[in-house]
Amino acid sequence: MKPSIVWFRDDLRVADNPALRAAVDDGAAVALYVLDEESPGIRPHGGAARWWLHHSLASLRGDLDALGIPLLLRRGPAADVVQKTTTAIGAGALYWNRRYGAAERTVDAGIKTWAGDSGLHVSSFQASLLHEPWEVTTKTGGQYKVFTPFWRTISAQDFREPLPAPVAGHGFTGELPAYDQLESWHLLPTTPDWSAGLAEAWTPGSAAGHQRLAEFVGNGLGEYSEGRNRPDTDGSSRLSPYLRWGELSPFEVWHALGSKRSESSSIYASELGWREFCWHQYFHNPQLATANLRPEFDRFPWAWPGSNGSQGKHPGHQTAPQELRAWQQGRTGFPMVDAGQRQLWHTGWMHNRVRMVAASFLVKNLGIHWQLGEQWFWDTLVDADPASNPANWQWVAGSGADASPFFRIFNPEAQRTKFDPQGKYIAHWIPEFGTPDYAEEIVDLKTTRAEALEAYKGMKEVH
Ligand code: FAD
Repeated sequence: MKPSIVWFRDDLRVADNPALRAAVDDGAAVALYVLDEESPGIRPHGGAARWWLHHSLASLRGDLDALGIPLLLRRGPAADVVQKTTTAIGAGALYWNRRYGAAERTVDAGIKTWAGDSGLHVSSFQASLLHEPWEVTTKTGGQYKVFTPFWRTISAQDFREPLPAPVAGHGFTGELPAYDQLESWHLLPTTPDWSAGLAEAWTPGSAAGHQRLAEFVGNGLGEYSEGRNRPDTDGSSRLSPYLRWGELSPFEVWHALGSKRSESSSIYASELGWREFCWHQYFHNPQLATANLRPEFDRFPWAWPGSNGSQGKHPGHQTAPQELRAWQQGRTGFPMVDAGQRQLWHTGWMHNRVRMVAASFLVKNLGIHWQLGEQWFWDTLVDADPASNPANWQWVAGSGADASPFFRIFNPEAQRTKFDPQGKYIAHWIPEFGTPDYAEEIVDLKTTRAEALEAYKGMKEVH
């Protein structure tokens, strides 16, 4: 019998993995992961994501070993690698779970055509999203641009139950073609190695994801409606990187919430809905990270960079690059922003409320283009997601779908007193807070707020 290849991508798990299940059902499965940094349009991973990917692949290898399924790692353009590997192994079938970025879909479609022409059986499956973006449309057949009706439509369905992990004994035992050692990909930082904080905060891999899910459902979910807003507590699930890398499937998380909805579990379910909505937007707008969804924002007079590249006309353009550095390094003088940025740098994750505050501060008080913030998050988040990151930045900036209006400008000081009332979060991340060693405020909140509103008014008035 010919072996089957299961091509792993953003689904680094053995449970609830329909592609793996199909390969195992065929009898002799080989797993393949391709590090593709060459196919046109594929966004290269940021530094924190590379760290996570390394450990996640090591963990997947362990899980596959236990099933007796070999994992081949190859670096290169996916079309080339998949074709060569399939031919070298003499595989009869190729399986994968679908992905939704435009560049990735182009690659997959090309491979599907090649496989079909070569007489290979090829099948793909829905595993990473609760909805297929092309199947869920408005009454007029278009994409959803507003969250509430989108989620109402989707969550009215019964999502399938997660599949169990396959049993051992269905792995390919024949000769394998040459493959890469994970270490040879150099995904881990070395000079310098800044990853100690990430390793302290996280255990990548499906087992740790399942453990965290069980803990959260057992201890955190009941308090989620309140807890999710509090960066000083462990009130949110912290499942985002596990979902990002597919170490947990959204079907597993959905069903773990139980069928009876409390206020907290409904809110939590709708957060999964926001993840779906971000992917819905990204599927329909492949340029989500580089183009405003609302084109009038193309006229916004950013302090940095200006509309003609780096030369801003706005009075802030000379100081903006330094301000961007201060924001990245957590020394703006606004503790809620600085604590968030330090949490991000240290652990590769930032609490959602603080992400909103830090993003609003960059875009609205510093007048810096949301894309520069998006790029920073892309490089530093372990959950950096090609859909959720740009969609949320556009949401904060006001340029996105169902976005927070531009004139809603978070006051970082008011947010601090409301959501970190005892100052625990700030004290943890800014030990020098309240001493002369802490940074001075780099801007005046009131003036910059007024300037931002003025700039927005100007943008709206020009036709
Ligand atoms: P919980 O509150 O426990 O939520 C459960 C899950 O729902 C999350 O794990 C996540 O998968 C999903 N979710 C929750 N809120 C959102 C949201 N607003 N948009 C999309 N999905 C959501 N999330 C990412 O996964 N990757 C990103 O790159 C990312 N970038 C962001 C950038 C900005 C500027 C902002 C404001 C938000 C961003 N988010 C991103 C959304 C959100 O901040 C994180 O999903 C959340 O903080 C993760 O923590 P958690 O798992 O404890 O969330």
